[in-house]
Amino acid sequence: MPNPKRKHTRSRRDSRRAQNWTLDLPSFVPCSNSSCGKMRPSHRVCPHCGFYGDRVVVAPKPAKKKGEEGGGAGPEASGEEAS
Ligand SMILES: [Zn+2]
Repeated sequence: MPNPKRKHTRSRRDSRRAQNWTLDLPSFVPCSNSSCGKMRPSHRVCPHCGFYGDRVVVAPKPAKKKGEEGGGAGPEASGEEAS
């Protein structure tokens, strides 16, 4: 069983763990619904109009209700439906 020859220092261990501590923002794309056009996370149902691809797959939820959202969409606070 191969073992490391020497113990790595705390500094070396911590600098290794510090390489990828930042989280990436999810990429946002404009909604494919031409009448919506809001930004949504890619590969997610649009939280504003329920579009995915070229059709409505989830009924758009009412403004105040905290409804079920398919696909585990994140908490979107300030996006309100205007039309
Ligand atoms: Zn949309």
